[in-house]
Amino acid sequence: MVRYVYDFAEGGRDLAELLGGKGANLAEMTRLGLPVPPGFTVTTDACRAFLATGAEPAGLIQEVSDHLTALEEAAGRRLGQPDDPLLLSVRSGARFSMPGMMETILDIGLNDESVRGLAKVSGNERFAWDSYRRLVQMFGSTVMGVDGSLFEGVLDDLKRARGAAGDLDLTAEDLAGLVESYRSLVHQETGEHFPQSPAEQLRRAVLAVFESWNGERARIYRRREHISDDLGTAVNVQTMVFGNLGADSGSGVAFTRDPSTGRSGLYGDYLANAQGEDVVAGIRNTVPLTALAELDPVSYEQLRSHMGVLETHYRDLCDIEFTIERGRLWMLQTRVGKRTSEAAFAIAAELADEGLITPDESLTRVSGEDLARLMFPRFDTSAVGEALAHGLPASPGAAVGAAVFDSAEAVRRAAQGEQVVLVRQETTPDDLPGMIAAQAVLTSRGGKTSHAAVVARGMGRVCVCGAEALAVDTAARRFTVGDTVVEEGTVVSVDGSEGAVYLGAAPLVDSAVMRYFETGERSDALVGTVADAMERADGVRRLEVRANADTPEDAARARRFGAQGVGLCRTEHMFLGERRKLVEAMILARDESERARVLGELLPLQRQDFRGILEAMDGLPVTIRLIDPPLHEFLPDRTGLAVRIAAAEARGERPEPHDAELLGAVNRMHEENPMLGLRGVRLGLIVPGLVAMQVRAIAEAVVERTRAGGRPRAEIMVPLVGAVEELRIERAEVERVLAEVSAESGVPVRLPVGTMIELPRAALTAGRIAEAAEFFSFGTNDLTQTTWGFSRDDVEAEFFSAYLDKGIFATSPFESLDRDGVGRLVRIAVDEGRATRPDLKIGVCGEHGGDPESVHFFHAVGLDYVSCSPFRVPVARLEAGRAAL
Ligand code: ADP
Ligand code: MG
Ligand code: MG
Repeated sequence: MVRYVYDFAEGGRDLAELLGGKGANLAEMTRLGLPVPPGFTVTTDACRAFLATGAEPAGLIQEVSDHLTALEEAAGRRLGQPDDPLLLSVRSGARFSMPGMMETILDIGLNDESVRGLAKVSGNERFAWDSYRRLVQMFGSTVMGVDGSLFEGVLDDLKRARGAAGDLDLTAEDLAGLVESYRSLVHQETGEHFPQSPAEQLRRAVLAVFESWNGERARIYRRREHISDDLGTAVNVQTMVFGNLGADSGSGVAFTRDPSTGRSGLYGDYLANAQGEDVVAGIRNTVPLTALAELDPVSYEQLRSHMGVLETHYRDLCDIEFTIERGRLWMLQTRVGKRTSEAAFAIAAELADEGLITPDESLTRVSGEDLARLMFPRFDTSAVGEALAHGLPASPGAAVGAAVFDSAEAVRRAAQGEQVVLVRQETTPDDLPGMIAAQAVLTSRGGKTSHAAVVARGMGRVCVCGAEALAVDTAARRFTVGDTVVEEGTVVSVDGSEGAVYLGAAPLVDSAVMRYFETGERSDALVGTVADAMERADGVRRLEVRANADTPEDAARARRFGAQGVGLCRTEHMFLGERRKLVEAMILARDESERARVLGELLPLQRQDFRGILEAMDGLPVTIRLIDPPLHEFLPDRTGLAVRIAAAEARGERPEPHDAELLGAVNRMHEENPMLGLRGVRLGLIVPGLVAMQVRAIAEAVVERTRAGGRPRAEIMVPLVGAVEELRIERAEVERVLAEVSAESGVPVRLPVGTMIELPRAALTAGRIAEAAEFFSFGTNDLTQTTWGFSRDDVEAEFFSAYLDKGIFATSPFESLDRDGVGRLVRIAVDEGRATRPDLKIGVCGEHGGDPESVHFFHAVGLDYVSCSPFRVPVARLEAGRAAL
């Protein structure tokens, strides 16, 4: 038979799934012999069963009643006993901490009779009535559904009538009257009386906590934290203890070390004569925990010793909630505490130094996200004011600059040495120059994987996207937030780590961790702990980490950051800018000889690009991808061109012959669905000479580097292959050119040739494709697009937020690899590719290569390397190390 209820003395930390985090830890503390008010936990199983059927599962009521009886016998009094009531709290507590998101009801068991009993035994009438009014208020709003602000209103009216500044100025009589008012309010709002039966109070409170799992606050929180909707919450039923019995009582929260810096030593807040909720509610000012040492040295010493026990036992930073009832200390909650990124590194290092955890374990206590946050400059949080607006923290860091509203203006001002923030509704590839010129990108639309976000992350630019409060008026060159108008040139500060925008220049703190990666300088203790963690990660990881880099500068930086090669060098970026004209000419070429002439002009330029990258990565592999995007991306925009021609005609002029010719080409090459059109390997097979030129440029660069005494290790990668036949034909061409260059130069050029796996068909026929490929590299961006049938640029802005809300996925599949679908294809391709060619080298070069979750997956399926943007290289190194433990 399923059990639905566990006494605190029966449970333990390993049962967190069943008992929730709070229940499991209350049980753990009970076992450790710490003073925990006794109680029991109703399991998440019971919650799930209730939420699925709308009724308590069979046996639950009996089990609760049995445990209650045991509790009552041990306490020597009954729940709500008129002359000396046992009172209970009913507390939510899910597997993952969801602070304040669900309900907790205190003082269950009070009614018109037992409130008098409580007054008598406590000798404190005011306290008894205060507890009763809290119960009616909490029960009324949480269980009976009365709008909470109505209770607040009644309380405010009473305080005003009594001239009372705070709750403490109300007398026992006032509070008794307040109970009366609250009860009529409940009756008036619900047509029902506040239940006097303690058993009924308990039962309804438990069910209300179950239901709070599906409350709006809880759901929104889960979405944001990627917590599954299916887990349900446990319910903890616990004997009440009271911190509001006078000056010798109180409540507080404490950490075993400082959660913002990691410094060791107790840290916390205390409030005398108060229940725990008052501490967080900020009704009265708390005092630092050290003050408790004066107020109640005995309890303080006990607290210190208990916290020592907890930290040693959990071997990590713990936070706790405690209450002192008339000089007696009670522990109400503990858990492994949240901390800042800085503290995460500091604590992990210290715990290892203290011998509490092993050095390997210390590596599991820090994350790539922590590291990423530490690599960016930050705003001095103590000095910034109220944020102007909030958006999604798309690319971390802090930047200050003048707001500008288009790419050209960004470039113009940046050229004059001005720092700018590019503000757009959303960005397109046309904004690229402006994004490069800007310190930060701010958009009013789009998600964390929108164009702005992806490009900004790749470049290490700060980005806040989807700041919906911004009304961006590009034409008028300003944006507004409510009544605030921000004209072009106004200085704003963008916090990409927090997703906030401030008016004016917020003060910046430079990142010492970033300087360490650039120069190797260990400037302070924090940097030292980061450096140690990196060394440890490099020592244990199996995955190699390469970088996606298209320029010698990026390659050099990536190498400083620890990249072991270039996993993706995109050649199409080399066709932009001034070279666009040449590409245009190549497309317009009337015959083979003209095309050959233009290609001949492109050749030395490409050769020079490759030589620079091979030099920066000397001795390390550089995977160069042959041209991938559809050629019309290099031609002018169709509409713009048509308008220009029409305008000329309207003026009675003849359109530029070149324009007319271009338009013809653009029309010819127009595709409804370019992502699925003439691109990738298809280009190489259809457009003569293009691939030969690229391969020749690569091979000649290799020859030049070899002659210069270098050790160039270029690899040639063919994109968008779906069938082994495509690769065979392309490869024959590649080998032909390599042989030619070898013969001409006398330097043998033997380069590995491999393919991207970015189409489902490629993954499904990987066994065949491996016959012709010496390596695979998963292009997980395209593979995700083609597996889901999502056109990323279209769907993300349109409906991804709705999909996230509906729980179709917890994270965008473009952000974190979809293990079930795309991941399955990856597994198939790895297994079948290696079956054909056991020494097949396999990597990944999509955005996912720098995503911590995905890195763990790639480690697990046996990839050889991940490749990501240079700035993510340290993150990937750290996560690859963690994945190997
Ligand atoms: P949350 O998960 O939102 O922190 P809790 O279940 O911890 O909610 O309850 C909120 C507060 O109620 C606690 O901080 C504590 O001060 C108070 N509380 C809960 N149970 C008891 C109890 N048995 N005795 C005294 N106070 C309690
Ligand atoms: Mg709590
Ligand atoms: Mg691709």
